[in-house]
Amino acid sequence: MITCPKCGEVQSDADHLCARCGASLETTAQRAQRLHQLEMSRREAERNDVSIQGITGNINGNARASFFSQQFFNEMSHQMRRRYAYTFVGAAALIVVMIVASSTR
Ligand SMILES: [Zn+2]
Repeated sequence: MITCPKCGEVQSDADHLCARCGASLETTAQRAQRLHQLEMSRREAERNDVSIQGITGNINGNARASFFSQQFFNEMSHQMRRRYAYTFVGAAALIVVMIVASSTR
């Protein structure tokens, strides 16, 4: 629990702003520290998201799921799934059309 320095409201210290008057509940140094950590975690997430392969073969961050593995489909968004489904149906239809066309010649 923390007491607001401005209005004296006692509240959870999980919040950064007073629920009653909106005053900041952390010192300038604490705020700078928190924002710094937030920025660093963002950069870390960005670094892990963009995978870069080194000359030695090592890859930064988490390795991407290999193509067509179970995890690959789990990571895929619904939109991507639909796109893949359309692509496969389209490819299958194309193959059927080509087989029919070649057999009737
Ligand atoms: Zn307050």
